[in-house]
Amino acid sequence: MKKVNIKGRNYRILRRARKGSTGRQILDGYSDATNAEIYISETTGRDFHQVLMHEMIHACFNEVGIDIPLQIEEIICESVSTMIDQNFKITPRKK
Ligand SMILES: [Zn+2]
Repeated sequence: MKKVNIKGRNYRILRRARKGSTGRQILDGYSDATNAEIYISETTGRDFHQVLMHEMIHACFNEVGIDIPLQIEEIICESVSTMIDQNFKITPRKK
């Protein structure tokens, strides 16, 4: 899987670490709406698809123009991605 469609916009998926705002912390994932890219750290100990789902929800919020405090957005992204991960097996659609 190299791209995901989020509200009609293709986001590239990159397996690369990305540092947090302090520059010290390595993030499990990062959604870059400006460049339509989602980074998933190759060293994350978490499930790839759950991290991807979390970042896709961030990207979706951005694409539809939802602007809420980041702390609340994080709770929603983490809760929904965990709920999906615990109840469904996610496999990419063949194109
Ligand atoms: Zn997040």
